[in-house]
Amino acid sequence: MINVTPVAAAGACCGCAACREICPVGVVSMNQDRYGYLTASVAEERCIHCLRCVKVCPMKMLVEHKDQEMATS
Ligand code: SF4
Ligand code: SF4
Repeated sequence: MINVTPVAAAGACCGCAACREICPVGVVSMNQDRYGYLTASVAEERCIHCLRCVKVCPMKMLVEHKDQEMATS
């Protein structure tokens, strides 16, 4: 199983929302952090693992991971 996780906690998300716009099933949402910056989050349980968000992210902050291993796209 491949999961997609935005590493928004790292602060690398520029808030462009390209991932939300390209997601075919609408499971990416943009949320404000405590400083008011927008960051992406993925409802992983509803993700269909198409990896479009991974490919479109200009900051390369979305990562795919298999099982417990993390690997950048
Ligand atoms: S992998 Fe596909 S379905 Fe999952 S969050 Fe990214 S764009 Fe949406
Ligand atoms: S495409 Fe990347 S940089 Fe843009 S909002 Fe999504 S995770 Fe953040």
